[in-house]
Amino acid sequence: MYYPEKSLKNAKKLLVSPDLENVVSLRLEPEPKTCCCSDCWPLVWQEVNDSIHPQGPVQHEGQALIKVGSERCLLVQNESGPEILLLVTASLSVVAAVVNLIVAICGSLRKERKCPAKVKIVRRRSFGKKIAEDLLVEIDLDDSTAKPDKMKGIIEVAIKNSF
Ligand SMILES: [Zn+2]
Repeated sequence: MYYPEKSLKNAKKLLVSPDLENVVSLRLEPEPKTCCCSDCWPLVWQEVNDSIHPQGPVQHEGQALIKVGSERCLLVQNESGPEILLLVTASLSVVAAVVNLIVAICGSLRKERKCPAKVKIVRRRSFGKKIAEDLLVEIDLDDSTAKPDKMKGIIEVAIKNSF
């Protein structure tokens, strides 16, 4: 099960944020829903771990803090969707690293045996006692005309516009 508040609180601690409201969660949510663990998506997590090496690896249902310069973001392997958490004050280079990570996950996913038709990128933030949830973009993984560059462009615009 995915508990957004628990996940944001975990990231608040690991990213050393004084305030929960500073933490932003970006999650890839498959459509239709499917398990996203490293047993079900072995290729995706192998390629993700290769790309973040020597940092990580993200173990089964685990997480990894990824350094970008003097900052960090957090990559979490949830069964219901890979999640990347960063601070709302993150620099452009962290946002760019997060975009690259999401693009890499989507690219690997298209080669994965259990590839879902679509993946939604959902942003969550805590405000007071509520969690605000926004669908940033929906990526059609079945679209064979979608070139990697085009996919990157769509993801980049959606994420950058949300900061
Ligand atoms: Zn699984």
